[in-house]
Amino acid sequence: MILLAKDKKVNEQKDERSKLEKELFYEKKSAWDALREEKKMADKLGNDYREFIDNYKSEREIVDYAQKIAKKNGFVDIKDANPSTKKIYAINHSKNILLIELTNSPLEEGMRIIGSHIDSLRLDLKMSPVYEANPFLMINLHYYGGIKKYHWLNTPLAMHGVIFNKKGEKINVTIGEKEDEPVFVISDLLPHLEGAEGREKLAKDIIKGEDMDAIGATIPIEDKKIKERIKATFLKTMNDEYNITEHDFTSAELSLYPAIKSREVGIDYGMIGAPAHDDRICSYLGLEAMLKSESKKAKLLLWTDKEEIGSVGNTSMESMFLENIIEKIITLRKEKTTAKEVLQNSKALSADVTSGFDPKFADKMDPTNMNKPGFGVAVEKYTGAGGKSYGSDANAEYISWIREMLEEAKIPWQHGELGKVDQGGGGTIAYILAKYNMDIVDMGPPVLAMHSPFELVSKIDLYATFKAYKAFYEKK
Ligand code: MN
Ligand code: MN
Repeated sequence: MILLAKDKKVNEQKDERSKLEKELFYEKKSAWDALREEKKMADKLGNDYREFIDNYKSEREIVDYAQKIAKKNGFVDIKDANPSTKKIYAINHSKNILLIELTNSPLEEGMRIIGSHIDSLRLDLKMSPVYEANPFLMINLHYYGGIKKYHWLNTPLAMHGVIFNKKGEKINVTIGEKEDEPVFVISDLLPHLEGAEGREKLAKDIIKGEDMDAIGATIPIEDKKIKERIKATFLKTMNDEYNITEHDFTSAELSLYPAIKSREVGIDYGMIGAPAHDDRICSYLGLEAMLKSESKKAKLLLWTDKEEIGSVGNTSMESMFLENIIEKIITLRKEKTTAKEVLQNSKALSADVTSGFDPKFADKMDPTNMNKPGFGVAVEKYTGAGGKSYGSDANAEYISWIREMLEEAKIPWQHGELGKVDQGGGGTIAYILAKYNMDIVDMGPPVLAMHSPFELVSKIDLYATFKAYKAFYEKK
């Protein structure tokens, strides 16, 4: 069909308008479009990531994984490092690890730091975790982190953790991850018995924290002289398997995690659904970026614990671990600087997930300041709640540097707030690293259904986030 002169003019005008738009308007673009040619690589990374999250859940397991990978890539335990060791790792109480790759330049010049957290939402066993409530042996739990309690009902749960027996020997426990192993479950009430009162319950009252106990056993032990025969079955089974007694639970760290493997979501396989993308995804991508980047700058990767309960405790971001290790390396290299100075001169990413836009809950977000799954890595200038309380607000100068880095590397990225103003809020480890006066900003993929047993992330955002972390380590 030929184009008529009249139509042509209209089109030219239209072009001119779009040119102006192009020049002046900010347009959020689909990362799928931007990275279409790299889809295979994104798929590959998604598969590798799934392998990781399907196999490593607790902080201890994740630290073990990192140690294994670190060693394989030539990193040396700080205890064995010498003044010329370039690749060092250090582990804090088995639940917190850092990897550092040094250069010949003085440490005083600062480092590139990517910090994330490896703890995730779960249900911890109490110190006295077993009681019989006929016809069941119940596992007494205390939830960890900000969960919607009802999410965890009728969800298969696997036990992960460690027990120290009377002799102080460490016993690793995993029950419920293999297909032929049993799982544990907190059963919900059937709808038939809910009644009007039950149906009108507030979400927070559907199950009380104290009632979140899981079924642990149901078959009474043969010996009828025993008073609590189902409890006896549970303890006997644990004893047969792990050689432990009831009292050994007091010196243990055991938790129930969703026994759910990752799956691809949508007919196009575009998303990955799994428990605890938050924040295993940024941790995994940070490590990948560290191993796959070429950098003239010293690189540091930090995996912290206890973020979900406010970064308190000796394995959290609030611990002195990071500072102490840097101090140790300075001493080792006989450099004339301090850990505080090194950290002050560093640039950092607080690598954590953010909320992704969900059309069903569109009213919770500001349409012009939100992150959409499939639109790339999200940069969050500030987090916090209310009037930005407890958010680390990154300097515009640093955002400008970050923006240049992302544009140079042609990485699709977006920016937004967690939700509407006064809708709620959240935080990360950013404000704690910011205490050292370093440049820091939050960056990670948007996630749907965060803190649920089946969180969703776009594969292309996962890939864009990896590229962003890599570019961060590599930028001059
Ligand atoms: Mn997080
Ligand atoms: Mn979280």
